[in-house]
Amino acid sequence: MKKLVVITGASSGFGKALALEFSKGGYPLLLLARRVELLEELNLANTICEKVDVTNYEAFEKSVRKAEELYGKTDLIINNAGVMFLGNIASQDPQQWQTMLDVNVMGVMNGMKIVMEDMKQRKCGTIVNIASIAGVKPFPLHAAYCATKYGVIGLSETARGELAEHNVRVIRICPGAVNTELLSHTTSDEIKANYKVWIETTGVGSITANDIAKTVKFAYEMPQGVNLREIQIADTRQDA
Ligand code: NDP
Repeated sequence: MKKLVVITGASSGFGKALALEFSKGGYPLLLLARRVELLEELNLANTICEKVDVTNYEAFEKSVRKAEELYGKTDLIINNAGVMFLGNIASQDPQQWQTMLDVNVMGVMNGMKIVMEDMKQRKCGTIVNIASIAGVKPFPLHAAYCATKYGVIGLSETARGELAEHNVRVIRICPGAVNTELLSHTTSDEIKANYKVWIETTGVGSITANDIAKTVKFAYEMPQGVNLREIQIADTRQDA
C-alpha cells in the first residue's frame, strides 16, 4: 500500500477534491474536518474520517497517531483547512481576525508540528500548506485574511529552509479565486455581492478545486529530492 496522506478541511472545496484525487491514486487517507458526516459520505476506501478542529492540537495529534497505527507514518500532510472573512480592517469584528489567525495560521502550524519530528528522523516526508495569492500580494478588504496567508508563506519558507538538511519538503500552494464555500462565511452581503460581480465581470470561473488537487498531487509525486517550493495557480482570466 502507498504511504499515508493526511488532509485537513476535507469536507468541502479543495480538501474534498484532494481527498477524491488522492484516493483515486490509491493512497490511504486521514480526512479531518468538523463536519465529519460530509467526510463519511465520500465513502472512500482505506480512509479514516475524524471530526477534528485543527486549532485543537491534542485532538488533531490523536487522530494522526490513530491513522499512523493503521497505515504507517504520515508521508504527506496537506494543511488545507482555512476560513476567510472579508472586511474593512477599521470596522471588522476582531473576533473574525482571531478565528482566521487561529485556523489559517495556528491550524497549519499544529499540522506541521504533529508530523515534523518523525519526518526529520525518517529523512523523508512532505508538508503542503495551502496559502493563497492573497499571501503574495494585497487585495482590498482582505487585510486580516492577507495577514494570515502572508503568515503561511513566511512560516512555510522558513520551515522549508530548516527542514532542507533532513530531506523533508515544504511546499506552499497559492491559489487564486476558485468557486468553493470559502466566500460564504463573509458576513457582509455587500462585500459578497461585489466579489461575485468581480468574478462575473472578469470571467474567472474556469479553474476548479479539482485543478488545485491535481496540482498538489503532481508536486507530491515528484521525486523526494525535488521541491516545487511555491506554486501560484489561478484562472487565466484573473487579472489581479
Ligand atoms: P471551503 O470553505 O470550501 O473549505 C474549507 C475547509 O476548511 C472545510 O472543509 C472546513 O470544514 C475546513 N475548516 C474550516 N475551519 C476548520 C477548523 N477549525 N478545523 C478543521 N477544519 C476546518 O474553502 P476552500 O476549499 O476554498 O479553502 C481551502 C483552503 O484554500 C483555505 O485555506 C483557503 O484559505 C484556501 N484558498 C482558497 C481559495 C479560493 O478561492 N477558494 C483561494 C486561495 C486559497 P468544516 O467546516 O467541516 O470544519
